[in-house]
Amino acid sequence: MSQFSRRKILAAGAAGGALTATAAAHAAGVFGNPDLPPEGQLNSNARAFADPGPQNPAMEAQIPSFQDPPPTDVNGMAQFWSSFSLSPKRVQAGGWARQVNTEMFPISVDIAGVNMRLGPGGIRELHWHQQAEWAVMTYGHCRVTAVDQNGHAFVDDLTAGDLWYFPAGVPHSLQGIGPDGCEFVICFDNGASSENNTLLVSDWLAHTPPEVLAKNFGVPESAFANIPLQQRWIFQGKEPGPLANDVREIMPGAGPVPNPFTFRLSSMTPNKLTKSGMVQIADSTNFKASTTIAVAMVTVKPGGLREMHWHPNADEWQYYIKGNARMTVFNVGPEAMTADFKPGDIGYVKKNFGHYVENTGTDDLVFLEIFKTNQYQEVSLMDWLAHTPSAMVQQTLNLSPETIAKFSRTVQDVVPG
Ligand code: MN
Ligand code: MN
Repeated sequence: MSQFSRRKILAAGAAGGALTATAAAHAAGVFGNPDLPPEGQLNSNARAFADPGPQNPAMEAQIPSFQDPPPTDVNGMAQFWSSFSLSPKRVQAGGWARQVNTEMFPISVDIAGVNMRLGPGGIRELHWHQQAEWAVMTYGHCRVTAVDQNGHAFVDDLTAGDLWYFPAGVPHSLQGIGPDGCEFVICFDNGASSENNTLLVSDWLAHTPPEVLAKNFGVPESAFANIPLQQRWIFQGKEPGPLANDVREIMPGAGPVPNPFTFRLSSMTPNKLTKSGMVQIADSTNFKASTTIAVAMVTVKPGGLREMHWHPNADEWQYYIKGNARMTVFNVGPEAMTADFKPGDIGYVKKNFGHYVENTGTDDLVFLEIFKTNQYQEVSLMDWLAHTPSAMVQQTLNLSPETIAKFSRTVQDVVPG
């Protein structure tokens, strides 16, 4: 039984099981139903809880916790739920992209998310931008190229679970390779960024006087007669040959980058491994190139819980990859809001706001916690209470010494249901 359904029963029992307006007045102020005036379905009568007006049932079914919030929720928190499924795709030959930035998700000031698909041979044009770009591969195979600010060259092939990171201003390209191209999610380290607002090599050449191009590259103007006059952005290309061929071609005169721009996250040894799941962390301590983005990939087995915690150094941008989840976010006020997440959905938790993430499905839950910082940091509620004098905790929360003694004295991250 979930926390919330148990609470509902306890609270309903305290109210005599009668879901009437009269019972509601007595139900408030008990465990699992703290507020005055009371909130939540158990404090409403059935006719008042009904929703007889116009509805969009398909959309409402996506977030049942918005339709029927637990009585522990208390309203007023800024929207922290979004989804790539809400975002229109920009589709061109070779692939597509869609994005969630502050224009449609105002809370997300630290991170703009882009979901991109490149078919086999599909090319995301050579470009650069004002923001650093972090990405996780979610499907297929991709070849990335880059040249850093010291002229070092980079090329690599990636598959699902791998990461890349390009510092702001470092020019790069992406290409889907066989057998079925790739899909990935990019995070720019500025929530106002847009995938439609990058500096494109085709745009620059088309808008440079031909005689300057000739001078710059030391070839006749006619050599550029066939350059594209409009930007390419995403276009259909030919699949590249073996990676080793590209490495041989680009390295002379350049040499490798000091820290690789790619990282194998899903195959790394977990930082935390319990019977209920695991956490894999990539930040500048192990993925050295990634100086502005830190990430934790979290796996929670059915019934398990990413334990109650917060992050002292950065907002958290979440991307849900597999399974079903429910999260409640807590802030002063008090404010508490619960939302549900499916693959492709996005959550956002402001720095220091308390939260947990519960696996509400029957399969593994996998999601990413992404932060605009160089180092992953968290504070665990249980670890804090376990390492505070027990008399202090006992007096504050009316807990028995036996209960406090059961708190884990090491951070678990993922706990059993
Ligand atoms: Mn880019
Ligand atoms: Mn978190």
